[in-house]
Amino acid sequence: AIRPRPLVAGNWKMNGLVLGVNEFDAIATGVAAREVGRAEVLICPPFTLISRFAAAAAGQHIKIGAQDCHPKSSGAHTGDVSAEMVKDAGASYVIVGHSERRVCYGESDALVRSKAEAARRAGLVAIICIGETQAEREAGRTIDVVGTQLAGSLPAGATGANTVIAYEPVWAIGTGLTPTVDDVKVVHDFIRSRLVEALEGEGHELRILYGGSVKPSNAAELMAVDNVDGALVGGASLKATDFLGIAAAY
Ligand code: PEP
Repeated sequence: AIRPRPLVAGNWKMNGLVLGVNEFDAIATGVAAREVGRAEVLICPPFTLISRFAAAAAGQHIKIGAQDCHPKSSGAHTGDVSAEMVKDAGASYVIVGHSERRVCYGESDALVRSKAEAARRAGLVAIICIGETQAEREAGRTIDVVGTQLAGSLPAGATGANTVIAYEPVWAIGTGLTPTVDDVKVVHDFIRSRLVEALEGEGHELRILYGGSVKPSNAAELMAVDNVDGALVGGASLKATDFLGIAAAY
């Protein structure tokens, strides 16, 4: 099958103040100067910087996304932000079900699916995160856990145009640890087979990102793995040179 265009996405998490956004300008400039390969490049800053970055990115190739959204479009939900608001602020993507949200806020697969459905309703691409914990891996339950999360979080009728899957082993996030390329291949091949079972031919079109301690030094070997269609990058996305170095490998 023809591989989909890779996506390299940066998740800034709860980092970034107006005074310190030079890194975004440096990333956008690098993307505009084609310092990256054929990958589509996305930055997901905190909500507070989406409008500013979207304005700076207007007419450029870099995309902007959010890190979460509420399932409802509006209403009495103090402190929440809807997919429609994210879209209105100028974003085109939203991450849903990141492990930090699944762990800190007890987000269930059903909630994550409803957020992915909200993203589609608003015209955003959802990046659905799944991945096992260290204890689950050690217990030999990786495939079981990833399969359950995927089945529970993936909306019916997902397409390559509206949905991306990010496989992020929880124990690899922010730790400097990564699975072996063989382990990554096993999980990505499994996710692809489940996508094709659920969505038939369309299942080949969804990009499956790897996330968890991606750096310039390991990006190329990860990208060479079958069914790795890009990266979701946390820590290294905060430094323009590192993030551009990763994007160049995809
Ligand atoms: C993430 O949180 O999505 C992530 C992959 O983080 P890091 O790259 O820092 O491991």
